[in-house]
Amino acid sequence: MKPLILIIEDEQMQAQILQYNLEAEGYRVKHAPTADEGLLLIQEYSPDIILLDWMLPDMSGIEVCRQIKANPDSKAIPVIMLTARGTEDDKVRGLGVGADDYVVKPHSIKELIARIKANLRKSGIGNIELSYAGITMNTETYRVSRGGENIKLGPTEFRLLKTFLERPQKVWSRAQLLDHVWGTDIYVDERTVDVHIGRLRKSLNKDNKPDLIRTIRSAGYALDKDG
Ligand code: CA
Repeated sequence: MKPLILIIEDEQMQAQILQYNLEAEGYRVKHAPTADEGLLLIQEYSPDIILLDWMLPDMSGIEVCRQIKANPDSKAIPVIMLTARGTEDDKVRGLGVGADDYVVKPHSIKELIARIKANLRKSGIGNIELSYAGITMNTETYRVSRGGENIKLGPTEFRLLKTFLERPQKVWSRAQLLDHVWGTDIYVDERTVDVHIGRLRKSLNKDNKPDLIRTIRSAGYALDKDG
């Protein structure tokens, strides 16, 4: 599944141009014109990266960023602040509330895409080698192992584990998993997630290994060794 970018930007034209260019690069894009809607979409989709405008009608970008980074569920998502301001002072304020990067408008789309790539890489999205708690995955050779022993996974269980490995300990709702593993375009029942979690568990926990998949009642699942 291609990385999902959330643009929080009230200027419709700028958002449209961004969305068009990012989709042309192969990214999936969601757009929110207000801070409120942006925070809702973060909950709903758990995007892989957020482009956040500094000046929004209902809340400052600084405040939105502070909220994203204060929430354990979203704090690992990289935030790139987009701003027309360019003073050192603003930059420090942005990074002070946890923004991961800072791009001054007008920016070239090429520059922005380079920043997006760099920040996705830093957060582990799109990495070829992923590992957590003794589980390793190579996304090119499709090899998966736990404690050095090879594990065979079906394609859906592979994508599910990849999503977990990209953000260990994050609690994923079924809807978020559907979006990241199955995609938004097709309708899949949320119970399907439970079925595939069951299969993934069975493969990972062979030979009575401890269960690393945590079930959080009415919330979802997490890959969590402290579960
Ligand atoms: Ca604005």
